[in-house]
Amino acid sequence: MIDLHTHSTVSDGSESPGRIVELAAEAGCTALALTDHDSLAGLDEAGRVAAGLGVRLVPGCEVSCRKPAPPPGAPRIEGSVHVLVYFVEPGEGPLQDELVKLRGDRAVRNEELAARLVELGTGVTYEDVLAEAGDEKGMGRPHFARALVKAGAAEDIDDAFDRWLADGRPAYVPKGRLDPSDVARLAHQSGGVAVMAHPLSTGLGPRHLERLVADLASGGGRGGNGGRGGNGKSDHLDHLHHLDGIDGIEAVYSSYTPDQRTLLRRMAARLGLVATGGSDFHGSFKPGLFVGTGRGDLRVPDDVLEALEARRR
Ligand code: AMP
Ligand code: FE
Ligand code: FE
Ligand code: ZN
Repeated sequence: MIDLHTHSTVSDGSESPGRIVELAAEAGCTALALTDHDSLAGLDEAGRVAAGLGVRLVPGCEVSCRKPAPPPGAPRIEGSVHVLVYFVEPGEGPLQDELVKLRGDRAVRNEELAARLVELGTGVTYEDVLAEAGDEKGMGRPHFARALVKAGAAEDIDDAFDRWLADGRPAYVPKGRLDPSDVARLAHQSGGVAVMAHPLSTGLGPRHLERLVADLASGGGRGGNGGRGGNGKSDHLDHLHHLDGIDGIEAVYSSYTPDQRTLLRRMAARLGLVATGGSDFHGSFKPGLFVGTGRGDLRVPDDVLEALEARRR
């Protein structure tokens, strides 16, 4: 059993990188990916603990992307598009350089978001959010959400998103994002692979989603939000060398039903992609989720990791 999707205190999780490795070992995981948002900073600590416990640590991160233009005939994408990257180590590299920029954009966004919450009269200040995040580096909306709950401006973290923080709500401030195809290309250039996280978060139904995933697998997935237009890579052979495309989709995900997992697994098989899985553990920021087992029924087989490894080039 493995878990390929977890968040630590380096981004918006409540547990340290080392603690997550311990939790993975306790759950019986042979391998664990730490996938903090925009950051590889937890991997050194996690790697040390993993070596001691005999767990394989898969270096990773998660990047929130610009919404791609919908496939022909599909509605606009209302939900989110996140891409997980695996096998990229901290250090020098094209993806690592972009992560630095994304963290810079996040810091600017966080200051604007805090100012917005003051203007809106929520009683929450930047300092309150900083106290939740521990430091400025991994500060994100879940920390704002917890500060809003403590200030009495929301019932719980989900309610804080619904009332204030989600896209379209009064305190939403956009931040810099990459296209999914950019993340895939940068991941490959840095020696890694790219996987579309929680594909159902796009909000697309199965047929439209499959067209989007096919597009992302061939290096498409641009041009949303009045962006850069078509990708010019619709050649039918492109998926065979998948230069810029995603390598897999997250099929076995904590909140997905057995039917949804099966649907996504079959979709991956039809498109020649790896069907991956993970808990998306965030500790107390997403209550009820556990490393390795998700909500109790998650079981990602070890051979998924070999299939992903085989996609490295
Ligand atoms: P940020 O990267 O700072 O914009 O925050 C995005 C993170 O907030 C996501 O990765 C989730 O962990 C969390 N998140 C986003 N939307 C929601 C929501 N509706 N309810 C709870 N958590 C959310
Ligand atoms: Fe998160
Ligand atoms: Fe995500
Ligand atoms: Zn995640």
